[in-house]
Amino acid sequence: MAIERTEALIVGAGPAGLAAAVELKRLGVARVLVVEREDEPGGIPRLCHHTGFGWRDLHGVFTGPGYARHYVRRAEAAGIEIRTSTTITGWQGPMTANFSSPRGLGQIEARAVLLATGCRERPRAARLVPGSRPQGVFTTGSLQRFVYQQHLPVGRRAVIVGAELVSLSALMTLRRASVSIAAMVTELPRHQIYLPYLPAKWYFADLRARAPLLTGARVSRILGHQRVEGVEVTLAATGQTEMIPCDTVVFTGDWIPEHELARLGGLAIDPGTRGPQVDPGFRTSARGVFAAGNLLRGAETADVSALEGRQAARRPSQQAVADDALLAVVLPSVFDLYRDTGKDQRRVCEIQSAFGQRLGALAPVERDSHGLLYLQQPGGARDVSDDGAFRNLTPR
Ligand SMILES: Cc1cc2nc3c(=O)[nH]c(=O)nc-3n(C[C@H](O)[C@H](O)[C@H](O)COP(=O)(O)OP(=O)(O)OC[C@H]3O[C@@H](n4cnc5c(N)ncnc54)[C@H](O)[C@@H]3O)c2cc1C
Repeated sequence: MAIERTEALIVGAGPAGLAAAVELKRLGVARVLVVEREDEPGGIPRLCHHTGFGWRDLHGVFTGPGYARHYVRRAEAAGIEIRTSTTITGWQGPMTANFSSPRGLGQIEARAVLLATGCRERPRAARLVPGSRPQGVFTTGSLQRFVYQQHLPVGRRAVIVGAELVSLSALMTLRRASVSIAAMVTELPRHQIYLPYLPAKWYFADLRARAPLLTGARVSRILGHQRVEGVEVTLAATGQTEMIPCDTVVFTGDWIPEHELARLGGLAIDPGTRGPQVDPGFRTSARGVFAAGNLLRGAETADVSALEGRQAARRPSQQAVADDALLAVVLPSVFDLYRDTGKDQRRVCEIQSAFGQRLGALAPVERDSHGLLYLQQPGGARDVSDDGAFRNLTPR
């Protein structure tokens, strides 16, 4: 099987992956490949047809699809290849990923890999809610696919399990599908929607949908045969149960990072978040493999994920986080320049050193008594130092 080669491979074309790709390109990385299993790039926001995206990263307020389009356009304008309908299924080696696509199977080898595979909501089965298995049970993600992608009817009256930001998103989707809200049910003592999203809750949930909020309560059973007919709710304080008639149940939140690739790659997993462990430079325990976005911890807002992606690509200049992947990506291209005898070698050498120092991996250029330039061995960039020319380069 032929192996494709790229400099940076990004798995996942959501906000984190696309923001990272754009930033890598801006930093001068020539070949950035983003791989996405869906048939369109953009990640989750693509299917959230409501406003509330982009505050921190784009300093504006976008709808989900508008926000996704913004990043896709920026990536395309930067000449980044986004390969859709392509799933990374595992690893062939430390920096070689296997993929599956309608065109067949293949392998991609990269000098740096960023995992930005996001997270998903725990479905009903994983929450161990007893009862029958009728139609009409969703997560927010599957609901949004149903409504916005497949344009299918949902139901008439829904119970939303959860009372956080994503529950509000489910509520807005249900309202768009003309479904009334029987109740929002949370086991916690209050809802978890905070500023700047609180006015949206007041407006959409309280004023428009008049959705009753049931706190300290748990959906303890789903009732119905062919179709949901209601849910049984148990109040934590008294143990009393109550039946709420509805034909639709939406389980919201309760996130699981999409960590299969991280696990298959043997990356250290954080026992708290169940995403891969990263340091402040978004480096995982595997050399050259980075992770950013909701894969790290379950859901944050899209702008936070995008900023993380950007940061993971940018790599802060502190020494502590300044070796491997990006360096491995950037330095070889600079070395190619160096080998080009048509260039002013002294200048190239200085540019390279400045770059290396900015990334914290090269000591300053040294000059010997004859005025010749010497570069230091880059710390931690062993994979690009197989060439003896790396060590003591003297401009011709
Ligand atoms: C219903 C809902 C409503 C939301 N509302 C808001 C809101 O109003 N405002 C806001 O700021 N945020 C909101 N969010 C949160 C926001 O969508 C996420 O924070 C953001 O999408 C995270 O970006 P990401 O790139 O980390 O992950 P994602 O957007 O999940 O992108 C990950 C991508 O990786 C792909 N992928 C996964 N595994 C593979 C693989 N093996 N190979 C190839 N591709 C793969 C997935 O298909 C996906 O496209 C909402 C989330 C949900 C679910």
